[in-house]
Parts: sequence; structure tokens; C-alpha cells
Amino acid sequence: MIELKADLHCHTNIVDGQGTPEECVERAKRKGLDVLAITDHRHAEGGLRYWREQPVNGMTVIPGEEVMTDEGHILAYFIKRTIKDCSLEEAVAKAREQGALLYATHVFHPTFRRFIWGQARKTFRDDELALLHGMETRNGQTISRCNRRATAYAREHTDLGVIGGSDAHFLWEIGGAWTMIRSQGRTLDDIKEAMLRRRTEAGGPTRVNRLVLRWAYYAHGFHRVLKGDHRRAANRRKKRRRVRRLL
Ligand SMILES: [Zn+2]
Ligand SMILES: [Zn+2]
Repeated sequence: MIELKADLHCHTNIVDGQGTPEECVERAKRKGLDVLAITDHRHAEGGLRYWREQPVNGMTVIPGEEVMTDEGHILAYFIKRTIKDCSLEEAVAKAREQGALLYATHVFHPTFRRFIWGQARKTFRDDELALLHGMETRNGQTISRCNRRATAYAREHTDLGVIGGSDAHFLWEIGGAWTMIRSQGRTLDDIKEAMLRRRTEAGGPTRVNRLVLRWAYYAHGFHRVLKGDHRRAANRRKKRRRVRRLL
């Protein structure tokens, strides 16, 4: 049995991420991960090619998708075709058809939760979660309190597997939260088997990798935009002055 460190939630530039799938895999390797799942919103294309060929650098890439269901976002792994937006039940049926595994993601996230009083306001109801293979208890973009709630919930519902993922949209966020997988080997079949048998543990998120850095990046972006605006305004003033002088 070997221990594999996996980031099971990563977005690429196929939809709204920063890096290409190759860049994400490369970055994951540099961060010391063994497994990366590519899980773009509404699209499986980013990871499908890895059914045919795995990277040569020792990483294993799981083809996946973040499916938008009416009940909340779910992560689908070992997927063969895109699952379009649908109800949770339809998603479960479609995943079964293609042998994919399903996990609820950012279950207690304040902006994604469904307001169900008395159930600590999580996204999915208990009976809905029971349809899935497990849930993400460590999400790299969720505040710690929500991750703690998810962890406590999973501890009471031991038939749910637990996973962690960075939910990276930027390259540096990859590996910010992770799953330790106890597996027989490094192939997709080995990893799927380990996940099915719930030989997984969730870890993270790391402090630096979370919201702070992302917001710092946004702030930096705004700063540059503002600076650009100042420059443009200054140029306009200069031009006006020149015109006035000519008049
Ligand atoms: Zn999501
Ligand atoms: Zn996501």
C-alpha cells in the first residue's frame, strides 16, 4: 500500500482557471503532489485526454468535472463525458452510467448553501448526500468554519468518503488543500478502488494559499487598472493643454 497526495479540485483555463491542464499538472508536480484531478465547471474536456495518456512525469491525472446540479455543486471523478447542468438525481444516474464517482463540494460554503434551518444550513440534505460517494471536507477557498463543520458532519456519517481539494483557479493555489489516498498503486483503477473503499483523508487548507493571496492578486490587478487610468487621464490633460496652446 502506498500513500498518494492528491489535489482533487482544480480548475483550468478551459473555463475560468488560469493555467492550461498541462501547466496545472506541471505545477502540481512541483508542489510534491502525486495525483491531480481536473474539475472544470460544466466541462470534462480538460481531463478527458488523460484517459488515453498519463503525463510522463510520474503524476496521475484524474479526468473530472464540477457538475452544477440544482441542489449544489458536485465533483465527478473518472468521468468519460460531460454531465450538463441537471438535478442531483439525474447527475447520479449519469455518473453511474459511466462509472464516475460523485462527491459534494464546499458543502457549508455560505454563498452556495441552501437555507435549510435546523441542518446547520448546508447545501445538500442528508438524503441527497447519501446518494453520493462522499463529500469534500477541506476546500481551499472556503472559510475554516465551514470546513470544520463539514469535517464534523463527515465524522458522524461514516459511510461518506472524505476528500480535500484546493478549488484552485490560479496556478499558485494548487495543492492548497489535499487528499491522502492509501492505494495499491498509481493507476486510475488503483486510485478509484481506494476512493471507493474510503481509504482517503482530507488535509489543509494551508494558510497562505487561501483567500488572502487571491485577494492580494485582485488588489494588485485593481491597482494596475487604476494606475493605467491615471496615466490615460494625464495624457488626456496633456493633449488638451497642447490643443489650447495651439489655439
Ligand atoms: Zn463550486
Ligand atoms: Zn470549484
